[in-house]
Amino acid sequence: MIDQPDLEQEKLPTTYLNYIDGVWQASGTGRLLRNVNPADTRETVGFVQESDAEDVNAAVRAAKQTFGAWKRLSGMQRAAYLIKAADLLDERKADIAQTMTREMGKTYAEAFAETARGTAILRYYAGEGLRKTGDVIPSGESTNLLFTTRVPLGVVGVITPWNFPVAIPLWKLVPALVYGNTVVLKPAAETGITAAKIVEAFADAGFPPGVINMVTGSGTGVGQALVEHPDVQAITFTGSNNVGKRIGISALSRGAKVQLEMGGKNPVIVTEHADLDQAAELTIAGAMRSTGQKCTATSRVIVLSRIYEPFLERLVERIKRIKIGNGMDADTWMGPLAGKAQLERVLGFIQKGKEEGARLLIGGGQPQGECFANGYFVEPTLFDEVRSEMTIAQEEIFGPVLVLMKADTLKEAIQLANDVRFGLSASLFSKNLSETMIFIQEIEAGLVRINGESAGVELQAPFGGMKQSSSHSREQGQAAIEFFTAVKTVTMSG
Ligand code: NAD
Repeated sequence: MIDQPDLEQEKLPTTYLNYIDGVWQASGTGRLLRNVNPADTRETVGFVQESDAEDVNAAVRAAKQTFGAWKRLSGMQRAAYLIKAADLLDERKADIAQTMTREMGKTYAEAFAETARGTAILRYYAGEGLRKTGDVIPSGESTNLLFTTRVPLGVVGVITPWNFPVAIPLWKLVPALVYGNTVVLKPAAETGITAAKIVEAFADAGFPPGVINMVTGSGTGVGQALVEHPDVQAITFTGSNNVGKRIGISALSRGAKVQLEMGGKNPVIVTEHADLDQAAELTIAGAMRSTGQKCTATSRVIVLSRIYEPFLERLVERIKRIKIGNGMDADTWMGPLAGKAQLERVLGFIQKGKEEGARLLIGGGQPQGECFANGYFVEPTLFDEVRSEMTIAQEEIFGPVLVLMKADTLKEAIQLANDVRFGLSASLFSKNLSETMIFIQEIEAGLVRINGESAGVELQAPFGGMKQSSSHSREQGQAAIEFFTAVKTVTMSG
């Protein structure tokens, strides 16, 4: 998806700049990265800066310099900026959604809904910024006043993936800002243009210079420099497990606060007490929406043996109705994968599934036809006869590949569901209360859903995983204050 442009031969589409200290500026490296449309790689969407540690240093310097003034504003004053940014994002959401679709392939409807959610995140945290943030605690000494107050951390580094290029940066940036931190955003380069458009809304809303900065580039060139920078007090990261672990070790070793949201291998369990039509419809939505490129995507479905055949029939029928195409076409239900690396990764897992003895029921390759010839399309794919130790039952595929497993009892199904190193989201389809209670208690997942697709959760509720999916802090809602502030405990005597 990204490669080095030949500037002599290109008729240049727009080139997007870094945003540092209130100024749009080119990286000192003079290098650019080209972002192409994964539905048709002949289309260049634009160019972003391929920055380096020097750009990161400049951004952190600006964020550090302005931190004192920003933290001394009241929550109400900071909230006013958020509301202005929300209004601008709202006005621009069609353009931002279209950019997202062209940059990473998800359907326009999904991109539009995500952008609308971004506006809602801004408005929600404008309210959160006005809440009380401390407690008065009864002291053992009657003449003492004992209380807690929350303070911002300082400069926060925000490192984000390409799969939700509006919602994820915003649900990190916005609470960081409202609680008084300043921010350096390092978005995934693959969606650097979408990120620039969000930051543009903040810039146009009049945020003071240095409060929000953005530097684009690679993980090793820019992300690592941010993680290692001694003046960055906290790193909030969403992305893959391998990168997250490395970032965690590096940031913790220099005493920074770290929040990691990582991968999943999310199960759905279907029992004989389920509405099978509902379960099939929502399992496929959970697995194939966004072309399976969601951390919360359904990737395993565990079905009780007595209903296995009727459920399988419904799944196959539903998959056959999926319309693949360019995300900008109104009748497309599933767009391409986001890039060449993703396509190779997904095809590699499909091959591995076949080699390890799983039965390929449907899909498994790239769709044929002229409209697919220049994009990173893959067919929705279903395997059964999958054993828990197989690679496709253990590893996050991050594509539209669903594996089907059989269990004789709910207990066995939950054991299979928990038999992975991840614990992000999980769903149960059952109308039986006792089964539901057991599932809620026993399933190892941070996000639990009953009779719904495995997916994220409304923005006012805590989001995050268990086991290796997360560093166990929570994002979104009121939970966000825990990461983006520190508690000071004060004892006052006369
Ligand atoms: P990725 O880990 O490759 O990259 C994420 C970000 O980290 C990017 O900005 C990247 O440039 C940066 N990065 C890469 N190497 C780095 C390094 N050494 N130091 C610092 N930064 C570095 O992930 P991706 O491919 O962009 O996104 C897909 C992954 O994200 C999937 O594993 C998915 O499950 C996960 N994800 C998790 C959640 C969640 O909330 N749990 C949400 C969305 C995506």
